[in-house]
Amino acid sequence: MENIKNKVVVITGASSGIGAFTARKLAGLGAKVVLAARREDQLKALVQEIGGNATYVVTDVAKRNDLDNLIQQAISKFGQVDVMWNNAGVMPISFFEEGHVDEWDKMIDINIKGVLYGINAVLPYMLKRGEGHILSTSSVGGLKTSPGIGVYSGTKFAVKAIMETLREEVAQTIKVTTIYPGATQSELGHDITSPKIKGLYGNLTNMPKLDEEAIANAVIYAISQRGNISVNEITVRPLGQT
Ligand code: NDP
Repeated sequence: MENIKNKVVVITGASSGIGAFTARKLAGLGAKVVLAARREDQLKALVQEIGGNATYVVTDVAKRNDLDNLIQQAISKFGQVDVMWNNAGVMPISFFEEGHVDEWDKMIDINIKGVLYGINAVLPYMLKRGEGHILSTSSVGGLKTSPGIGVYSGTKFAVKAIMETLREEVAQTIKVTTIYPGATQSELGHDITSPKIKGLYGNLTNMPKLDEEAIANAVIYAISQRGNISVNEITVRPLGQT
């Protein structure tokens, strides 16, 4: 695809699920992908599968220095960064009455601070260069909430607010896109410990779900736009999800 070929795309949360699937697909379209997450084995296997157009940097998005290092490594490997996609996220949901405060902290650190650190790491570079594209993954949970998802939903509403403000601040130069996936097959939710959530939803496998390609296609649509076209928001739900 003309507008994807040779673009350097940095992806956090690239070791599984939506990020890994999209990385494969982008590389298949000629992009150079820089894969970031904590699990090195998965990242290494994916780079081996994709080949020379991929590299990985072990990254914990809750650590600001890791994001700075990620962008530096991407530039030194491929010469530039055209697209930064803040996609890493976790969803250990629970009800407030259960008091899973450590999990609230984890969601805030990864889902909110991880996005902020990603923006902070790449924005001065892109502004200096005079072009660039920053995407972040929010969620349908960043548009509406329901019992049991309060903190996760709060983090994803925060992503919406952060990205919309970023868009207004850098609208002259940088493309800004927020992706709002509905329920999608992935490892998300594997870290749920709440007995009450498990009792209500099991392991979430009975919900209607999209495959990862549905979200990958949305991301590719945003990245592949030519010239001054900036796609700001995309929401994708499976039929049956309200
Ligand atoms: P997965 O659990 O499959 O992927 C999550 C990714 O985030 C993994 O690569 C994981 O890698 C990475 N990650 C988690 N914590 C960190 C961290 N501290 N530092 C770096 N990377 C981290 O789930 P999805 O693919 O579904 O999730 C991708 C995004 O999509 C998330 O932001 C999620 O909230 C969002 N989303 C998903 C939906 C769904 O139904 N699947 C619906 C709406 C939004 P590792 O563990 O190796 O670090």
